[in-house]
Amino acid sequence: MFTSDLIALSAEEKRALLARLLQDRAVVAAPQPASSPPPTDLADLHPYEAYVNPYLGATLRAVNMDKRYVRGEGCWLTDDKGTRILDFTGAYGALPFGFNPPEICQAVTDVFAAMEPSFIQPSALEAAGELARRLIEIAPGDLRYVTFTNSGAESVEAAIKLARAATGKLGILSTERSFHGKTLGALSATGRALYQQAFGAPAPHFARIPYGSLRALEETLSRHAGEIAAFIVEPIQGEGGIVVPPLGYLQGARELCTRYGVLLIFDEVQTGLGRTGTLFACNAENVAPDILTLAKALGGGLVPIGAVLCTEACYTAEFALKHTSTFAQNTLCCRVGLRSLELITRNEQELVRQVAENGRALREGLEAIQRKFPELIKAIRGRGYLLGMEFTTDFGAFGRQCLMSFMAEQESLALGLCSYLLNVEHIRMAPTLFGAKVMRIEPPLIATVAECRYFLDALERALTELRACNTPRLFGHLVGRDMPPADATAPRPQRTVARPSADAREGRWGFVAHPLDLESYVDIDSSLAAFSRSEREDLVDRLNNCQLNDLEDTLVIGATRFTSAARETAYGELLAVSHTAEELMNMPGEEAVEKVRKAVRLAHARGAQIVGLGGYTSIVTKNGLYLQDMGIPLTTGNSYTVVSALETVEEVARCRNRALAEMSLAVVGATGSIGRATAILLSEQAGRLLLVGNPKQPERSLERLRRVSEEIVGHLVYLYQQGRAFPDDSLADLLLRRGLLARCADADGQADCVQALQDAGRLRFTVDGDRTLPEIELIVTATSSTHGLLTAENLRPGAVVCDISRPSNVSQEVRAARPDVLALDAGIVELPGRQDLGIAYGLPDGCTYACMAETMIMGLERHYTHGTLGSDLDVRYILHIQRLARKHGFRLAGLQTSGRAVGKADWQRLARAAENGRTCD
Ligand code: PLP
Repeated sequence: MFTSDLIALSAEEKRALLARLLQDRAVVAAPQPASSPPPTDLADLHPYEAYVNPYLGATLRAVNMDKRYVRGEGCWLTDDKGTRILDFTGAYGALPFGFNPPEICQAVTDVFAAMEPSFIQPSALEAAGELARRLIEIAPGDLRYVTFTNSGAESVEAAIKLARAATGKLGILSTERSFHGKTLGALSATGRALYQQAFGAPAPHFARIPYGSLRALEETLSRHAGEIAAFIVEPIQGEGGIVVPPLGYLQGARELCTRYGVLLIFDEVQTGLGRTGTLFACNAENVAPDILTLAKALGGGLVPIGAVLCTEACYTAEFALKHTSTFAQNTLCCRVGLRSLELITRNEQELVRQVAENGRALREGLEAIQRKFPELIKAIRGRGYLLGMEFTTDFGAFGRQCLMSFMAEQESLALGLCSYLLNVEHIRMAPTLFGAKVMRIEPPLIATVAECRYFLDALERALTELRACNTPRLFGHLVGRDMPPADATAPRPQRTVARPSADAREGRWGFVAHPLDLESYVDIDSSLAAFSRSEREDLVDRLNNCQLNDLEDTLVIGATRFTSAARETAYGELLAVSHTAEELMNMPGEEAVEKVRKAVRLAHARGAQIVGLGGYTSIVTKNGLYLQDMGIPLTTGNSYTVVSALETVEEVARCRNRALAEMSLAVVGATGSIGRATAILLSEQAGRLLLVGNPKQPERSLERLRRVSEEIVGHLVYLYQQGRAFPDDSLADLLLRRGLLARCADADGQADCVQALQDAGRLRFTVDGDRTLPEIELIVTATSSTHGLLTAENLRPGAVVCDISRPSNVSQEVRAARPDVLALDAGIVELPGRQDLGIAYGLPDGCTYACMAETMIMGLERHYTHGTLGSDLDVRYILHIQRLARKHGFRLAGLQTSGRAVGKADWQRLARAAENGRTCD
């Protein structure tokens, strides 16, 4: 299958490599189901990845976070290599006293020593009763009964049931970006669609309002209080990104819920029991709920236990007699719960006061770091030992185009930093659940001032590397290399990044491309050159294997604004699907389409009014046709690619001082969208034209080539009817002189004309390039299947090849073997005034690919409808694009070969070779 317009990145090696990889590939198959994780040899995998969670396992492995921890003591872990690691995740709140706290272990031992029975339902359970009484003693307000559970989510489930049973109403109101757990009821209350969609959540009767807005709460309650059983809210949102509501929010919520007869549930699964520097986070506003959920810290970091506390009024016989859970309220966990409460509350809550004090100091330390790196850190939030650091999501905050700038836009920067901190600084951190732009800082409650300082120092070093865009240092550990730290005294790299403006007269475009191969990543982050080729491969593979959020496949590379010769201005962004051509072709068709769809949607969401599909993003979407119903204007940019091919051919003829009509020309890949349109337009000037099709599907190709030949004749007839004059000795000139053009208007007539041109040996089509190409002086090639088409053996001495294809159709080996042949890298154009785009992707400054230029032109024209789509390109539209390109000042970049400009010596060498018929100098 032939096609073209592929984004290229210039190194010859890449082309050779990809050419090899792609040979024999057909263009995208019909959509297929999405893939499962790649099969791997189970024996080589950690049993967790092999048998528990291959997806998470692969992600952890990819970022070297799959350590095997063999020991935990206090805030410290030891891995199987003997490395000591400081834990600052605190098991998301479930590790109040660090690992294996002796007092909690003792509580377990005490149960065994006393031989106290654990599972004896139904009976009057001793430990459960004691723990409930203690919880009620320390709880805020007039909470009266305790229901035990095994987890946070189960606590939320019980809370929902309590509220419904007590009120007889079903509605549960929660907040956006809240997290209440992942069982179906709790998940329905959770404020993130991403976690719900696949599981049929939310269940009916769940609704959400913005967090922190009393106005939204009042509006909803005033209209729907009659249907709402309870409003469930976290006093500080944890997984949503450590978000503290405005002061007075909890108090206001309390008043509103009371006024409207709606129960108030505080979900303190994460914030409860000292985490925020008060025993319960709601203590800070001196507010009490009707129902309070707890879990995590209650288990002392050793056992699973949760609890739901509620007022007398909330506790009904209906609930009491119909809600059970086998493992809940077991003796062992309740004894541990009691010991946990003891540790948290002893000495007048000394530990909690310490968390408040140390937490303040830790926050001040983080704020000091934020002042040093204001461009990287957007916010520090939280209280006590529940803190969050929000990173920028703006690639422009980085002094250089680099992997971290892409990760920032992807909201996955915190993951990269966590991986670095774990592997280089030996500190265990984690992002919050709803996106890796927020790093949680949630050490065990027992973490000391010294441990906080240790963490802050390491964090500052990490940010120094981040500011320096020192990708090798930050990611070297992933490929087993310890790269040098950045020179902290060196000036910060600087670049100016274009920003979208509010000016509606400014055009807005987006272009979606992809790295041609793994080597191409150096073009978009030059510091990756510090790695060897195999290290780069390893690195990119790892980063691509992180299945963190729904944007993991799309990189925002950069933004640009420029003004054209017609004084129109457009702002545009380059996005990349972070899969190589080979990966896109090898993955199931539907998956590839979905990845491109996601990138297009992102480009549109970021403001693009027209989106270009570069390289294989066009191929896998059938030249954009699979995406044409997205409601987003699209173009493949293939029209301008055809223009660039024609202009390259004309330039070659000019440089060789020859008329095209006297040269032998060929279009290889003439059945593909670009090859077909190029052949049709080239026929206006050609005297001898050979169309070459895919030898792998000879019958189909020959049939299509016949159709293209007829289209060629149809085109010439049309021009004739328009009164066009033709060059002497051209195809049309021959038909004209034989009186055939005038008779060619219908289909039969066209077939006669084709026959006449064939009989005269002027228009030929074939799938046998080996036999026919050795006669040809000037070849345009536009295919994605290079195998065996252009070889060292089938090129004429002194031939010129205009190569539109990426990967190149003229391999490195062929170029080396045939120095007498000139292989031109076609399809590259100059921007108006050769302005620098400020985005690096492997082309010289001021140059871009024709397909991208067409997208830019659409943006400059503010022409926001579908442009070039599908494979039957319209010749008139191509010429229209050519006119627009000229109007705006785009033009062919000078002739280039193997990444350098073609010079006089090249033409002399060619002329000598052609004269002598030699294949070498
Ligand atoms: N509620 C809140 C506020 C939480 O933070 C969490 C967990 O992070 C849960 C509920 C769910 O707890 P679990 O994971 O134990 O089910």
